[in-house]
Amino acid sequence: MTATSTRRQFLKLSGVGTAGVAAAGLGGLGFDLAFASERVARRKLEGTKTTASICPYCAVGCGTLIQAKHSESSGLTEIVNIEGNPDSPISTGSLCPKGSATFQLAVNPLRITTVKHRKPNATEWDKDGEWDRAKAMDRITELVATTRDAAFVERLPNGKLINQNTNIVALGGATNDNEENYLICKVMRMMGVVRIENQARI
Ligand code: SF4
Repeated sequence: MTATSTRRQFLKLSGVGTAGVAAAGLGGLGFDLAFASERVARRKLEGTKTTASICPYCAVGCGTLIQAKHSESSGLTEIVNIEGNPDSPISTGSLCPKGSATFQLAVNPLRITTVKHRKPNATEWDKDGEWDRAKAMDRITELVATTRDAAFVERLPNGKLINQNTNIVALGGATNDNEENYLICKVMRMMGVVRIENQARI
């Protein structure tokens, strides 16, 4: 603490204030916060390979830079940072709040990786392990087939073939890639679904 620091600044640094207030206090005491945070960011990016990409969330298509490096512990190449690409003529380095959170889409320890199923009218999830992927896929298939069959119209009263199913609507997510969207369209049209939309177009 410098000779110019005050009691108020001391209290701020003692944790009385919020982190933001404490940070302001640090700045007031002569610490170069910009330099410190830049060093932390630089260390995180040491040894990374940068790949230019596009934010997956909407049709604006803002440019991103994805930094990844090899992880000794997992043996895999892991993404360590995603940020706006200043060279993008569309976004010139900016990302909206959703695009700024793209890193959490790729790396998120909170992601649910097991099947979650709740019986009708139940208030609790079934116990972990009760439902595996095969059982869940069988159940989904059964429900989709039942729903389709309940409203499938093969021909109009005048005999015209339409193979139409208005009981199901398909809404693709913005993070589906081209190949996934192609397959979604194929499967939906195969079942006669005519209402097919994608969030990226809305
Ligand atoms: S979601 Fe946001 S960052 Fe992503 S492309 Fe759309 S406007 Fe850009």
